[in-house]
Amino acid sequence: RPAPASGRPPAYLQVAQLTKRFGSATVLHDLNLTVEKGEFVSLLGPSGCGKTTLLRLIAGLMRPETGRIVIADRELTRVPAHKRQVGVVFQNYALFPHLTVAENVAFGLTNQRRSRDEIKRRVGEALQLVRMAPFADRSVSALSGGQQQRIAVARAIVVEPAILLLDEPFSALDRKLRETMQIELRHILRDLGITSIFVTHDQDEALVMSDRIAVMNEGQIEHLGTPADIYTSPKSLFVLEFVGLSTRLGGTVVSSHGGEVEVETAFGRMRAPAQFRPGSPVVVAVRPEAISIGESEGDGRNVVRARLTDVVYLGAKTQLHLRGERSGDLIQAEIARLPPGGLPSGSELALTWRVEDTMVFPAPASAAS
Ligand code: ATP
Repeated sequence: RPAPASGRPPAYLQVAQLTKRFGSATVLHDLNLTVEKGEFVSLLGPSGCGKTTLLRLIAGLMRPETGRIVIADRELTRVPAHKRQVGVVFQNYALFPHLTVAENVAFGLTNQRRSRDEIKRRVGEALQLVRMAPFADRSVSALSGGQQQRIAVARAIVVEPAILLLDEPFSALDRKLRETMQIELRHILRDLGITSIFVTHDQDEALVMSDRIAVMNEGQIEHLGTPADIYTSPKSLFVLEFVGLSTRLGGTVVSSHGGEVEVETAFGRMRAPAQFRPGSPVVVAVRPEAISIGESEGDGRNVVRARLTDVVYLGAKTQLHLRGERSGDLIQAEIARLPPGGLPSGSELALTWRVEDTMVFPAPASAAS
């Protein structure tokens, strides 16, 4: 096997140039993904972008038209699912309702013809891990959704899979339980060092759980990065809009030098660290928490004046909705605390943010024409 050009060892999971079609529809286009050993990577994207298809291809539940899948130096593209050492946890748990908790968890080990003592020990450990040991002899149909999900996790990890694939495992749980399970599962998988790929369309879930997030759009990965990287430096307008809130203003680049551009917008000129040719149609963007209210314009800050339309109190923070007087652009800001006396709806505010917090993207094709 030739050493990679960088001299680094090859990634634990390598998905290379994967293409999958259903009839005339190409669902994955030439997709590439690498995951390191022990990493937790989420596939995040809107419905229909191909997350589940990618997971099923890695699991071996379907075949790609082209491309390769390698796990731990083992080429798996033509290996059937049951020989891939891949653990899968589905949305609907897929437990056997007529078996007990312990029998469900033992399933993979029984298939591997492990000794009775080994099965008993490993099932006990797995149940301990998911805090379900006292339920070993219950019927799974008598368990709550959260408990069933824990059993599904125990059943998948008990066989020590080379990789664990999870397809929206918490989608049937209520919000509070989902949040608890997210933290719990993350702890368990980190402690065990299990390499995991997790499908979700919930951005908060992806941010909470992941070492890295792969944001998918129409069968491709648009950005693979840490949660902070995805949030603070999204690679495209799609990624920006899919993860978190932002204000986006259309404009045209008027000058560019020293790694900074100046953009003409409906609110006047704004500066941003970026490189675009003058004349380029662009979108200037800023996250709500980067914005502050007041006249502290100074150097190194962009400023807009806009009218307050809504104040939304969210407990830990307050969201402000504003509209540009002339352009009608919607602006969203977030502040920790309202100023004494509050902010009356309809008042005109000056909003500022740092040049370095300003993002710029090429304008989408339709807006550019
Ligand atoms: P969701 O979040 O809704 O589950 P997803 O990102 O997981 O979406 P996929 O389930 O991978 O998306 O589906 C991607 C596209 O492929 C969709 O347009 C879907 O209709 C299509 N598709 C998936 N499986 C099949 C199949 N077996 N036959 C035909 N088309 C399919």
